[in-house]
Amino acid sequence: MSCKELISKASATHYLTRDELILLLKDKSCSNLLFAAADDIRHRYVGDEIHLRGLIEFSNICRNNCCYCGLRRDNHNLTRYRLSQDEIFALAQHAAVNMGLKTIVLQSGEDMYFDQDKMCEIITSIKSLNVALTLSIGEKNLSEYQAYKAAGADRFLLRIETTDKTLYHRLDPGMSWQARKQCLDDLRTSGLEVGSGIMVGLPGQTIESLADDILFFKQIDADMIGIGPFIPHPDTPLRNAFGGTLELSLKVMALTRLLLPDINIPATTAMETLAPSGQTKALQSGANVIMPNITLNQYRKFYELYPGKSSTNISSDDALTELKAKIASIGRSISSDYGFHQKKI
Ligand code: SAH
Ligand code: SF4
Repeated sequence: MSCKELISKASATHYLTRDELILLLKDKSCSNLLFAAADDIRHRYVGDEIHLRGLIEFSNICRNNCCYCGLRRDNHNLTRYRLSQDEIFALAQHAAVNMGLKTIVLQSGEDMYFDQDKMCEIITSIKSLNVALTLSIGEKNLSEYQAYKAAGADRFLLRIETTDKTLYHRLDPGMSWQARKQCLDDLRTSGLEVGSGIMVGLPGQTIESLADDILFFKQIDADMIGIGPFIPHPDTPLRNAFGGTLELSLKVMALTRLLLPDINIPATTAMETLAPSGQTKALQSGANVIMPNITLNQYRKFYELYPGKSSTNISSDDALTELKAKIASIGRSISSDYGFHQKKI
């Protein structure tokens, strides 16, 4: 089958074999057709509204040592910070009340200071603001995920990073791919919406493994998938690596939209960091979510997963107006609902 026929097949059936995915990922001539098809499927299944999720990066302290990440434990060139519960609540309140955001995302390194009790207190306080709440705080056990759910959390983001187990174990010393997969299963059991995703362009990552990643998203029946290019950080062992490209990241994202047509897919910050129009391009190639950063500037510079992390900023009224104008300019609007995953297939 030609690329065109494969893309039509994916649009109609939301299924491709591993070999078909590999073919489309490898063929550079089919990118634009793929982006247009993903844009069409996005329009048909999740509509033209964009969901804004206000991101609070509440601690950059991490017990792990992921080779790609600027927050890794062995990076001593980084000023570490941890927000107080009051600071976290104040940011969430500002986002909900003054900016009208419907979802708050709490993200951090794996900071053991925030134990189950502290997290549940934070969750309960934020839920009083009538927002949906997403957590992205790393690997926990089933009873912790259940406790977060009982306290009112709605969703959880935990990227599998790559389904290539050998690569995962090389890049995530001391961690286990099976344990991470178990976390995704436990999240499903807990009743939280499950978000996952990968980085594109990790050193040693193959096109074949990217095809496996896309099939994995379908296999775990993900509610949300975030895909971003790997961007090398100078204070990590991967400082000299090449990094991912916007084009391949967009292709993986577009194929994910074709195979999982009704899920939420963010235009990731890493895409915007690689190219100034990366976010807009992503919104026109399958994405329907933006996660503007609402962390205060004084802390934001220290949450350096990768260099140059240029996040969408809507902390000021002007910035929010600007974002709305950008969204309107591509014929889209901002959603006023919570943006839960509505299953349609
Ligand atoms: N500690 C939590 C959440 C914060 S890290 C966790 O690991 O799940 C959030 C995501 O940032 C990671 O899942 C990873 O995919 C991404 N990330 C880390 N380093 C990166 C880099 N150098 N380039 C691009 N993305 C990166
Ligand atoms: Fe920590 Fe997450 Fe970075 Fe790994 S990716 S070092 S777990 S913050």
